[in-house]
Amino acid sequence: MFVQTGSIGNPGTRPLARQRADARPTAVDGFGDARWYAMRRAGSRKPATYRCPFCRGHLPALTDHLLVLPEGDATRRRHAHTDCVARARASGRLPLREEVEPRRPGPLARLLRRG
Ligand SMILES: [Zn+2]
Repeated sequence: MFVQTGSIGNPGTRPLARQRADARPTAVDGFGDARWYAMRRAGSRKPATYRCPFCRGHLPALTDHLLVLPEGDATRRRHAHTDCVARARASGRLPLREEVEPRRPGPLARLLRRG
């Protein structure tokens, strides 16, 4: 157990619980450095246990959870707790594609602008 002493003069120290909540998705296997993420409900029936990329906690596949796909890449998908995804979304660490890439004008809009 880590007991924090003499924190005066050490402004970088934060409570452990907060550090955990702020932990970024790991950059290992490219999960953490994607520009945007797609999310979908996991429908796994496998009796497997995954590791959530946000809290590093165990995630039984049979519980309700989400798949997170970095830039829509299914080969890099990770199973994550629904709560962890919601927290990451709320703090802006899990942008959706439409939030990163502005929607391009459709063909009609482009035609009208040209004339
Ligand atoms: Zn989690």
